[in-house]
Amino acid sequence: MTIIEQKQNLVDIFKTIIVPLLVGICFIAWLIYLFKSPVIMFPSVLILFFIIYFISGYIFGGILLSFAISAAMFSIFFADTAYMQILLLCEIIWIILVFFTVEHHRIRYITIKKQAHVDNEVLSRDIALLQSSIDEDEKKSEDFTQRMEIFQTFETIIASLEQALSEKELLKLASELTIRFIGKGKWKIKRYSHRDIFAKYVRTNNRPLLITDTSNDKIFAPNNYKKFTSIVVIPIEVDGYFWGIIKGVSIKENEKFTDSDLRLLSVLTNILGTILNNTILIEKVSALAITDGLTGLFTKTYFFERLKEEIERARVNNLSLIIAMIDIDHFKTVNDMHGHKAGDVLLRQISDILRKKFREIDILARYGGEEFIVLLSHIQMKEAIQKLEELRKFIEREKFFLPVESFNPIQIKKTISIGLVDLKSETNVEDIINKADIALYKAKKTGRNKTCIYETK
Ligand code: GH3
Ligand code: MG
Ligand code: MG
Repeated sequence: MTIIEQKQNLVDIFKTIIVPLLVGICFIAWLIYLFKSPVIMFPSVLILFFIIYFISGYIFGGILLSFAISAAMFSIFFADTAYMQILLLCEIIWIILVFFTVEHHRIRYITIKKQAHVDNEVLSRDIALLQSSIDEDEKKSEDFTQRMEIFQTFETIIASLEQALSEKELLKLASELTIRFIGKGKWKIKRYSHRDIFAKYVRTNNRPLLITDTSNDKIFAPNNYKKFTSIVVIPIEVDGYFWGIIKGVSIKENEKFTDSDLRLLSVLTNILGTILNNTILIEKVSALAITDGLTGLFTKTYFFERLKEEIERARVNNLSLIIAMIDIDHFKTVNDMHGHKAGDVLLRQISDILRKKFREIDILARYGGEEFIVLLSHIQMKEAIQKLEELRKFIEREKFFLPVESFNPIQIKKTISIGLVDLKSETNVEDIINKADIALYKAKKTGRNKTCIYETK
């Protein structure tokens, strides 16, 4: 028993026995002095009993004490006649009955109170359990919503990335998306280079690198990267091989990368790796192909092969050669407003017009996205300008019908800009294309929907 418990016991004894006893003795003495009559005396004893009982709250203490006092009173003062004895006996019985009735109710009350307490505890426990399960459910639902949002974001990311036409475009797009997705840091996606210490680290260890706080970094020796507050590097695998990395750096104290950023980035890099693989394959395949899959026109690679041959033939036979570079004006707005699919349809429709407008001997190719190139032979510049102006005006007048989400196709108008170059004695393919580009750029710069010729200054 501890000292505190011992003290508590003493206090209890004092409260339950000593105090009632003293109070009782004083009270009885006072009553005896006052009345000296048992009939008045016993109800007074009853009152005393209740006082003790209520003061002490200690049932046996109360009983023993009051009965001891009653008996004492009885034997000392009032047991002199039979009538008196019966009267006193009745009063004692009455006291006992009252006591048991009260006690019965009191015990019932205590039992009910105890039960209520137990019930209350059970109920509180149940409520706590319910609350925690509600909290858990809420957390689950929050997690679910968050996962759904992430999932939808991933879907959008995949859809956007799949639109990229080249590795370069894909990587540019993926860096922009990463910034939007993670919401902090600067991002770079690049092929492996042994000069990048971080790329070297993730490749050697074959796992991502997360330096949440560069001031506590134990992996790298302190050097100039310390200007960053946080760094994250994730390897990108393409077709099962280490291709490169996605690297995020932060310079702000409150924008450090966390484990959850790392998890999201790992999923993102998996997606990127798969799409990158496709893009690389498509690039390889299209480099081998003669005709472009979307428009059916010749590919750029094939065009260059033929251009070299034609230059040689023209040189030997002293023939004239003209190159026209054709670019659709504001083509991006079609994609942006009506979707990539509608953009593809427009590309096909314009390609069909071009195919019809040029001769069999002309070599028409898709140069890139929405740019076309055509090599015109056996033709003078004046005639070529006329021909291309005709084409330009035709397209300007044409109505293009494009599919959109709703059933009714939308109708749009489009124009093209053209850059022309007379090959003359020029034999360097790069220079030729450069000149055609300059002429096209001039057409764009001076208002679009026009034909410009490359002129030596
Ligand atoms: P400008 O008048 O200066 O030529 O503006 P533009 O919008 O036509 O040119 P810009 O080079 O800014 O955009 C060309 C766009 O064409 C960007 C690219 O996403 C889109 N594009 C390239 N190839 C394809 C394709 O095969 N299909 C579709 N739908 N879009 C493509
Ligand atoms: Mg264009
Ligand atoms: Mg263009």
